[in-house]
Amino acid sequence: VCLLGLWLVLAGCASQPFTVAALHTPLSLQQSHNSTITASGATIDGLEHLNIVVTKGTMVSCDFDGDLPSSIPCRVNATTQGRSCIFAAGATAGQCSISVDLGPHTLVTYKVQGKARTGRIINLPAVTYAGGEPLVEAFCWWEWVVIVPVRECADSFSPLAPIWWQTDQPSSTVQREDRIDLGYYQDTDFVANAQVFSNMIGPLVANVFFNSQQPFAQDYTLNRDLFTLWRGPPGGDLDACNGSYSFNQATGAASAAAATDAEVLIHNETTDAGSSAGRGCAQLAHGGGSWVWVNHAVPPNNMVHESGHMLYGLGDEYCCDGGYSSISIPRNVFSTKAACDAAAAGIGVAASLCVQIANAAGDTASFWHVDDGQLDIMQSSRNVNSDWRDLGDRARVRLMRRCAAGDCF
Ligand SMILES: [Zn+2]
Repeated sequence: VCLLGLWLVLAGCASQPFTVAALHTPLSLQQSHNSTITASGATIDGLEHLNIVVTKGTMVSCDFDGDLPSSIPCRVNATTQGRSCIFAAGATAGQCSISVDLGPHTLVTYKVQGKARTGRIINLPAVTYAGGEPLVEAFCWWEWVVIVPVRECADSFSPLAPIWWQTDQPSSTVQREDRIDLGYYQDTDFVANAQVFSNMIGPLVANVFFNSQQPFAQDYTLNRDLFTLWRGPPGGDLDACNGSYSFNQATGAASAAAATDAEVLIHNETTDAGSSAGRGCAQLAHGGGSWVWVNHAVPPNNMVHESGHMLYGLGDEYCCDGGYSSISIPRNVFSTKAACDAAAAGIGVAASLCVQIANAAGDTASFWHVDDGQLDIMQSSRNVNSDWRDLGDRARVRLMRRCAAGDCF
């Protein structure tokens, strides 16, 4: 059987595997810098070459839809550069890197090709990302107030800046593939400036989507082709886990949040008005918002756990002060054992695995879940060895299958 992996293209089903991968570093940095794009390839048949073609240009807001400009950016003044690395006979693995100078609000696309000595070729999907000082523009538009057109202006509008966008045509007018569009936003309560935020966001994203080493991140790493990752403009705010978010229109945050499927609002303040400092939360939704701390002990794990709430509608499975509602398909938290038993049967799991939600001390909540004894992201969110399990995993896989078929939400 010939299987084509979604992000790691495995070619040559009958003979030896041939793998090609590529990544840019830093993933997202809002200052002028040198960005390095590294391609790697491996095949026991012998690696002949790796090519990297880079298109670089200035990020601009590309159109008006009659009101505010689009949050999806365009590129102008594009130039192309590239590098080819030819490997010596006998080489079965190799790397090829190119350094790209990023000035203010630059959009870069890279395309990578690997060729084996057998003649087999792998072309990776093009990836576009943004770097350099953020684009900030002024716009005016007409808004109807009752029946009178009123001139409104914004002097600090920014579009979404891609961190990982599979396209070679960054534009608001090109038909975009349906993906889980995830935006990272600096909460208005974030302490320190955009540069500090920018320095924190890259590692957070890397540890969730480019981390094949730790179980909690492996599914998102393996399926990252189903996501488009963005850095949103400032102006998003969430003050407590009460589900009331605000996104400023003048900064572009409101348009950006409307364009993404899910929003991650990043906090880092050391004190909090409530009792929940350092603790994340999320809307129970099929595409919603969440609150994640980058100065929390394990922000990437926290982000993955919150994604369970905001992307799949999963409830908490830890005891005893979690949120025990579930709107996931299938649901993962139940108020009766009978309902849990029925759900377990639905996925072919023994009813004996339906247990009351409990902690190690033996405290229990009046809710039931399937517990297969393995570390579960919705239960043990701070453990890097946690993984998506049983009903929660079914809900995640369901959305990812829909996405792969072009219908994410
Ligand atoms: Zn939770």
